[in-house]
Amino acid sequence: MKSFECRMCGECCYGEGGIYVTGEEQEALARFLDIPLKALCHTYLEQRNGRTYIRTGMDHYCIFYRKGVGCTIHPVKPQRCALWPYYPANVRDRETWELAKLTCRGLNRECAFEDFVQEAQDILFNLRPRTEGDT
Ligand code: SF4
Ligand code: SF4
Repeated sequence: MKSFECRMCGECCYGEGGIYVTGEEQEALARFLDIPLKALCHTYLEQRNGRTYIRTGMDHYCIFYRKGVGCTIHPVKPQRCALWPYYPANVRDRETWELAKLTCRGLNRECAFEDFVQEAQDILFNLRPRTEGDT
């Protein structure tokens, strides 16, 4: 039984942007959109508290979210988005995971916390950058 399967509801793409993007992610985004980095920063990103965030649109969704389509930058979306729901807080703390289930319908209500943690460990291990010595 899978502990998570995204239902594409867009709930996690709604709200005043907490999605920050690193320099590398900005470059990948600019390449993906085929626009200069400067244009990306001007049109899609904003600075807050010393960090660079994705803007929200007039509808209060992330500017890259399209109803009926979902994330339009899926292949290069920031790690913060790609990791959901396997955030450390959700994996470490049962109550945080329970709270996450209230907003994310992709989290399987039938699944035990332990199964979610196991799935998260497998996924995070596979995301880990390979280094010399890995087999
Ligand atoms: S809230 Fe959950 S189910 Fe909905 S789009 Fe986000 S990750 Fe998918
Ligand atoms: S980058 Fe994509 S997944 Fe992340 S909030 Fe925006 S639309 Fe949603």
